[in-house]
Amino acid sequence: MAGGSAIRGSRVGSGPLGESERGEAAPRQRVKYYCSNGHTVSVAFALDADVPDQWDCPRCGLPSSRDAGNLLSAPKNEPYKTHLAYVKERRSDEDGMVILAEALLEMQG
Ligand SMILES: [Zn+2]
Repeated sequence: MAGGSAIRGSRVGSGPLGESERGEAAPRQRVKYYCSNGHTVSVAFALDADVPDQWDCPRCGLPSSRDAGNLLSAPKNEPYKTHLAYVKERRSDEDGMVILAEALLEMQG
């Protein structure tokens, strides 16, 4: 029985490398989402990915629907605020958060 476990052990580690190579070559599909503020979002998914029914709008943060005729409404009890707006409000006492926000903006480029 010791031989069986040795064979299994030799295969560990080959998975992650193979997966990243396949990810680069994977064909993409573009899915459009519509938010209730009139924004249209186009998101790229792998062809074999599970495409979610809704997506957070990157412009205003509202949940966007795949169905333009059946828009999702914003949650009323929790007004959306962008991270940057939140940081600007409190920048007097949280300088560290401002630095973080600037780093995030650079990443979005
Ligand atoms: Zn939006």
